[in-house]
Amino acid sequence: MALNVVLIGPPGAGKGTQAERLAARLNVPRISTGDLLREAVAQGTPLGGLVRAVMARGELVGDDLMIEVVRERLERPDAAPGFVLDGFPRTVGQAEALEGLLAGRGPLTVVEIRVPEAEIIRRLGARVVCRACGLNATPDEAASGRCGRCGGGLGQRADDSAGVVRERLRVFARDTQPLVEFYRGRSLHREVEGTGTPDEVYAALERTVTEAGR
Ligand SMILES: [Zn+2]
Repeated sequence: MALNVVLIGPPGAGKGTQAERLAARLNVPRISTGDLLREAVAQGTPLGGLVRAVMARGELVGDDLMIEVVRERLERPDAAPGFVLDGFPRTVGQAEALEGLLAGRGPLTVVEIRVPEAEIIRRLGARVVCRACGLNATPDEAASGRCGRCGGGLGQRADDSAGVVRERLRVFARDTQPLVEFYRGRSLHREVEGTGTPDEVYAALERTVTEAGR
């Protein structure tokens, strides 16, 4: 079974939820760059100070800083057996750096969750998230209006309106397509259809990761 896993896929593919579930199954940490950056800033580490300065200027965290944040995270003991990375690498530069970071570890498996563009637009348009913790709401939670994790109120994401969704897709295609091309055609690359229910997608993901490590 593969234990060093990268999930890539478009916004709205349910990557975060799938990464969480897969990590629990493999008994390795899920490493989300969004969480890592928030944590670094909150803890006030030297690296967090750099991240905070970049964000305060309204800029995106660049490759070098992001790679450094991930490098520190992968060095923690809980990530020694493996990890599920979600949100990194996002660029070819980061992917190349990741290969260096993984020197001496087991092989890497990159799973691409594929969802047609029309389906992504439909999903993002309908997405409801917790206003307190940011978790995507399940249909049951959406009906109850309360987050199942923290009890917070739910609402539509501010960046999910149709125009913003198309812009995010455009940015995703521009930035991530080269990354996908970088991995496609290599033996570490796998594909999972992301169009089924979350349970169906997860089952395919787990099967793929199990087979990848053999
Ligand atoms: Zn919540």
